[in-house]
Amino acid sequence: MRPDSALVHTPAPGVYLSTRGFESIVYGLAAALAALGSDDLQQLRTPPVIARDIIEKVGYHRSFPHLLGRVYAKTDTGLPAESDVVLLPAGCYCVYPLFAGVRLAVATELSIEATCFRQEAGAEVGRLRSFRMREFVRLDTAEHCLSWRDDRLSAAREWLAGLGLETESTVANDPFFGAGNRMMRALQRERELKIELLAEVGPGQVQAIGSGNYHTDQFGRLFAIAGPDGEVAHTACLAFGYERLALALLHRHGADPHRWPERIRKDLGLEATH
Ligand code: ATP
Ligand code: ZN
Repeated sequence: MRPDSALVHTPAPGVYLSTRGFESIVYGLAAALAALGSDDLQQLRTPPVIARDIIEKVGYHRSFPHLLGRVYAKTDTGLPAESDVVLLPAGCYCVYPLFAGVRLAVATELSIEATCFRQEAGAEVGRLRSFRMREFVRLDTAEHCLSWRDDRLSAAREWLAGLGLETESTVANDPFFGAGNRMMRALQRERELKIELLAEVGPGQVQAIGSGNYHTDQFGRLFAIAGPDGEVAHTACLAFGYERLALALLHRHGADPHRWPERIRKDLGLEATH
């Protein structure tokens, strides 16, 4: 029998069942992450699918055709055809369309919890095909989006350090701009559009447990959103993977959360299960 705090393998690589113990950790993380945002922050939850139109509009199907999960269903003709939804690859794609054609009077921030799917090629520890993330999304001016992202990233690093997770902050390629060619990738790196917080999620297995992205005015343009300064809105998002966070904690503090440091159990609301 596996420990009560683990993910349980299924015949599909990268697809897991989670135990009650694992879900208690995720639940604690979800509450703690929600508390990282301001009190009056609007919080949304996604379904596991999104309109295919949106994903095509943002170009995800071109940038990451290999990761996109498409949905097919039998039609009246008896033949399968592609549906008008696809599996959601990241939470914030659900947010931008909400503001399509809007002129924002003030900078806007909201938080969204998402069930995501990516047809990942590998299935190493922490690389799931179906996983959950919490995102914070900001629509603002260029300057404020960048400072917001960096402030939130340092607050997140502090929070993670309090949970015993020392993270390494590193500049990465921005997935929102696609794999692209080498020059594009180098440019994205140089502009520091994507910053990842890395931690060990298993023995010798380092992965991004969180990431902060600055998308410039890409989504503002696509969805005709004007920012508080009347210019095309810029956007940024901060995303945390629940399963990777939980795995990092289990790797750091051991497979039995009952034996984790009392303060961390308290921070994650795990005392009740003692
Ligand atoms: P990676 O480089 O590891 O593929 P990514 O840079 O594509 O991840 P993002 O698109 O920034 O990841 O996703 C936001 C967060 O969601 C990541 O920081 C990570 O915590 C989590 N995440 C992303 N992909 C996965 C996955 N396949 N399994 C579990 N969690 C994931
Ligand atoms: Zn995002």
